[in-house]
Amino acid sequence: MWCSRLLSYPLSQGQCSSYRARAALAQLNHVLEAELESIRGAGTWKSERIITSKQGPHIHVEGSRGEILNFCANNYLGLSSHPEVIRSGLEALEKFGAGLSSVRFICGTQNIHKNLEEKISRFHQREDAILYASCFDANAGIFEALLTPEDAVLSDELNHASIIDGIRLCKANKYRYKHMDMQDLEAKLQDAQKHRLRLVATDGAFSMDGDIAPLKEICSLAQKYQALVFIDECHATGFLGPNGRGTDELLGVMDQVDIVNSTLGKALGGAAGGYTTGPKALIDLLRQRSRPYLFSNSLPPAVVGCASKALDLLMESNAIAQSMVAKTRRFRSKMAAAGFSISGNDHPICPVMLGKARLASVMADDMLERGIYVIGFSYPVVPKGKARIRVQISAVHSEDDIDRCVEAFTEFFIQ
Ligand code: PLP
Repeated sequence: MWCSRLLSYPLSQGQCSSYRARAALAQLNHVLEAELESIRGAGTWKSERIITSKQGPHIHVEGSRGEILNFCANNYLGLSSHPEVIRSGLEALEKFGAGLSSVRFICGTQNIHKNLEEKISRFHQREDAILYASCFDANAGIFEALLTPEDAVLSDELNHASIIDGIRLCKANKYRYKHMDMQDLEAKLQDAQKHRLRLVATDGAFSMDGDIAPLKEICSLAQKYQALVFIDECHATGFLGPNGRGTDELLGVMDQVDIVNSTLGKALGGAAGGYTTGPKALIDLLRQRSRPYLFSNSLPPAVVGCASKALDLLMESNAIAQSMVAKTRRFRSKMAAAGFSISGNDHPICPVMLGKARLASVMADDMLERGIYVIGFSYPVVPKGKARIRVQISAVHSEDDIDRCVEAFTEFFIQ
């Protein structure tokens, strides 16, 4: 058998297919190397620093000496390494094992999963809740299950990638309204009147800018045009609002927002996991139809144990939820006084706007040398020309930690 016209000697069938496989791999490598080089060339390469300790305000990072002050975790309440949260995770691991080796509807539901779902719905004051392996999955699984070609979804243009992907998967009519622009949303709602259901989807707090969706206005438009409201509360659950219930509590519209998706992987213990909470009929439907729920493993008991304890702590007292506010204000006002432009308002996500991608990345490296861990964000995570360093404040930062971070920013420009 002759494998190719280029070869002048015969090959066995096995040799021939292995030659083709190697050629395909070489071609793939060629394509990938060009793509990777273009990312490096654009100065947008994202490298991963390696942490060698628990998550927390003070961490150890491979290649850096001593303790580093961490300002880039979504550990808003410091619960990722809270002793009671860890103990609860360990107890669940001991009692319920490493994992279920099953999806929920086969043999993957334990009483701790049901208890956590009940606790989540009580926390958010909704009828029911359903757990997912992540909020990415919750967002990927809701729109397709809920909306048909008869329906419409109206989505803020800056919504999180997982909402965008979830909407891509559904067959509803899609409208994208300008970021937090209520005139544009109203125009789109008017156009969407011809459809059966209308669902407005927005992040509660936007993770790249630290700005908060105008939920009061969104809810009143939703009432006017008979639309449902969906919010993604990943950067709000546990700390926004007087009792940390989220953006809907902060803005006084808990009874007007229909569906909340959020994560257990940020303020609520930081392990992993996500959920949808809302009307019981919706949750029942998701258990029957939502693909990331039906076709993915159950949350590991240790993760359930950690999140469950985090919710207990927040429901016992609002002190943790409130403890971060003053620290956020301190950072924002000191940075503004030093001449920096910080996007958003009153949210612990404090994006220090720098413009150029390379400046954001060089500055972040320089800050690490000064013992401060922050990360530069650039295109495609944020729009071109809007590179920034995103500083995230946690309840467990001390005032001294905050002041050291501000000093490191100012020193960069006077060195
Ligand atoms: N939604 C928003 C707004 C997020 O910031 C994130 C995480 O980055 C997600 C969803 C996904 O959450 P998870 O990490 O639980 O998948």
